[in-house]
Amino acid sequence: MGPPGSGKGTQSGFIAAQAGVESISSGDLFRDNLSRHTDLGITARSYMEKGEYVPDDVTINMIMDWISKPENSKGFVLDGFPRTLKQAEALEGFIGLLDLALYFNVTNENLLQRLTGRLLCKKCQASFHKTFYPSKNPGKCDFCNGDLYQREDDKAEVVYKRLDVYERETKPVVDFYNNQGKLVQIDGAKSIKEIEIFLSEVLK
Ligand code: AMP
Repeated sequence: MGPPGSGKGTQSGFIAAQAGVESISSGDLFRDNLSRHTDLGITARSYMEKGEYVPDDVTINMIMDWISKPENSKGFVLDGFPRTLKQAEALEGFIGLLDLALYFNVTNENLLQRLTGRLLCKKCQASFHKTFYPSKNPGKCDFCNGDLYQREDDKAEVVYKRLDVYERETKPVVDFYNNQGKLVQIDGAKSIKEIEIFLSEVLK
């Protein structure tokens, strides 16, 4: 968990590789459906564009389908789910208690800078930043040479809305896992490498 731009997406692949399991981002699943123009994608689009959460029943069903795949039976990393108390309770009802809930903590000012400068690869989803982590070749991905783009919901006016929704809906989920003794807090202002080192200790 963590507000948009806190680095959870960047670290989820690393965590999954450490644990030898797959990771899934609910946001990526929605974007994948959107690009394929599925019914789910069309439903999700109107919410995502405004920076609002997609309704719980739609999101819960999508994630439960993914969790139920045989290849995920040995465990998984969830990135961006659960984001509401209803989602957290549904997840617990489905799989029981989580092993760990990681919370990436970053100030709003820092998040705004990160999100409005973020550029993503259309092909492999790798993430760059106009100022902090530019690609070698402007507009092109360092890894697969795909085109880079800015997410519609990374524009400043939508980012404010997303931070607002996060505060209201997801902060209670942080408390939910804290009360269960499952919460590990991460200082999201640290560098990617520093966070990786911290996480490899936590996951030992
Ligand atoms: P993300 O890529 O995680 O920033 O998610 C992008 C957008 O997808 C969010 O702003 C929401 O509109 C939607 N979304 C992703 N995950 C969830 C979730 N767990 N619950 C509701 N909406 C979600």
